[in-house]
Amino acid sequence: MIVETLLVVRDPQLERRPVIRREDDSQVGPLFFSFGNINLLCGACTFLLIKGARAVDAIFDAIVVCPNCGACNEAAQENGVAS
Ligand SMILES: [Zn+2]
Repeated sequence: MIVETLLVVRDPQLERRPVIRREDDSQVGPLFFSFGNINLLCGACTFLLIKGARAVDAIFDAIVVCPNCGACNEAAQENGVAS
């Protein structure tokens, strides 16, 4: 298993981007799982958000809201545009 930590988003712009979050108040992880070999952790508290992702950027540009600490996470942009 590869473990990758997501980046905490300071300006999540939730109205513009798809948001992955729990609809209930459960804090049991992960948010969802697949059958890849990458675990994606919350960048703030290392809560297991996505188990078995197939790629580090499996969530694309979505924001993942951590059910444990409430932080907004996004995938690291490995070849993103320099700002
Ligand atoms: Zn968290």
